[in-house]
Amino acid sequence: MPEVVFSVDQARSMRDQAHPGHNRWHPDIPAAATVRPGSEFRVECQEWTDGQIGNNDSANDVRDVDLSPCHMLSGPIAVEGAEPGDLLVVDILDIGPVPQETGPKPGQGWGYTGIFAKQNGGGFLTDYYPDAYKAIWDFHGQQATSRHIPGVRFTGITHPGLFGTAPSPELLARWNRREQALIDTDPGRVPPLALPPLPEGVLAGTLSGDALAKVGREGARTVPPRENGGNHDIKNFTRGARVFYPVNVDGALLSGGDLHFSQGDGEITFCGAIEMGGFIDFHVDLIKGGMEKYGVTTNPIFMPGNVEPRYSEFVSFIGISVDHGSDTNLYNDATVAYRNACLNAIEYLKKFGYSGEQAYLLLGAAPIEGRVSGVVDIPNACCSLYLPTEIFDFDIRPTADGPRRADRGSCAVSS
Ligand code: ZN
Repeated sequence: MPEVVFSVDQARSMRDQAHPGHNRWHPDIPAAATVRPGSEFRVECQEWTDGQIGNNDSANDVRDVDLSPCHMLSGPIAVEGAEPGDLLVVDILDIGPVPQETGPKPGQGWGYTGIFAKQNGGGFLTDYYPDAYKAIWDFHGQQATSRHIPGVRFTGITHPGLFGTAPSPELLARWNRREQALIDTDPGRVPPLALPPLPEGVLAGTLSGDALAKVGREGARTVPPRENGGNHDIKNFTRGARVFYPVNVDGALLSGGDLHFSQGDGEITFCGAIEMGGFIDFHVDLIKGGMEKYGVTTNPIFMPGNVEPRYSEFVSFIGISVDHGSDTNLYNDATVAYRNACLNAIEYLKKFGYSGEQAYLLLGAAPIEGRVSGVVDIPNACCSLYLPTEIFDFDIRPTADGPRRADRGSCAVSS
């Protein structure tokens, strides 16, 4: 096992660790550890809500979740010699749930997928599913099953949802400016268009007093992906992946967390992945001046991992950029097209006895493939969603006999 440079005791909050984590992006958050280029090391992580979600049959915890301390990140890890303009090379050597532990925290033998309420987080289909729901998943080695979605068992595509480097003060100011401008276009919207800095719930490693208050006023929230990486939720950051992160500050200051046992493309329920705490092993290196050398100046680039489930047969669903409710055409809108592909998949799965909520949870968590298939065939963008048939213990392929409808239980609901 490589040296653990950031440790997490799962029985404690991120606030009470030997070295506390952080939940905002800000260049002032001091490094928790320093590593050399070429080194291998382990980072331990809490689940992203810092353990607010329990292994039970009620979704009230998802409904009432406090998002102000999310995501809880491990780090920052400083890399010796890293300077602005470099590319930080990050290899994902290994990743998994909390090793050899069972317990009440996500990652201790289990994880969860949540549909967040429209009033508190929302999700990709929040206008169709405005209430909170949850599915608990039990881990069996690399496979997952859920008492809330019976009839499915699949190999997880395990990856970190969120890693990135610290922004420079200038980059942070740009984020805050442009995101506030977006919020200002519809400040009362539910769910909000973006999340501005929030002093409430802020954690910034060992900072306290005025320094912590400054991070609370200025620190960027962790929900979106940005130029530093961040919450990409790209399911292909599996074992064997190599990510090239822009370096914006001395030492690069790599942070992350939000480990996912599995996730489908789009992570459509907002926490549609199977969320867990656990560990991730890295190797890091530097490409000096790499941002200019390779033209990687706005966002990271990456080489997908080479360890992932192998499913070869799919039933695929297509969506186009039409509002079918009002029969209105939208112009080349890939978001609407993917949403329609998801809704079409859900309608199909309902014919086998699943509720819409169960199907929505499953599409977020299972290793489904989402594709932007066409964006030039005016006026309709076309997206497609590939659902592996082998994850079901019954045949979901269309046949002349019709769908095998059965009682498929219920996901966890809120009261
Ligand atoms: Zn996540």
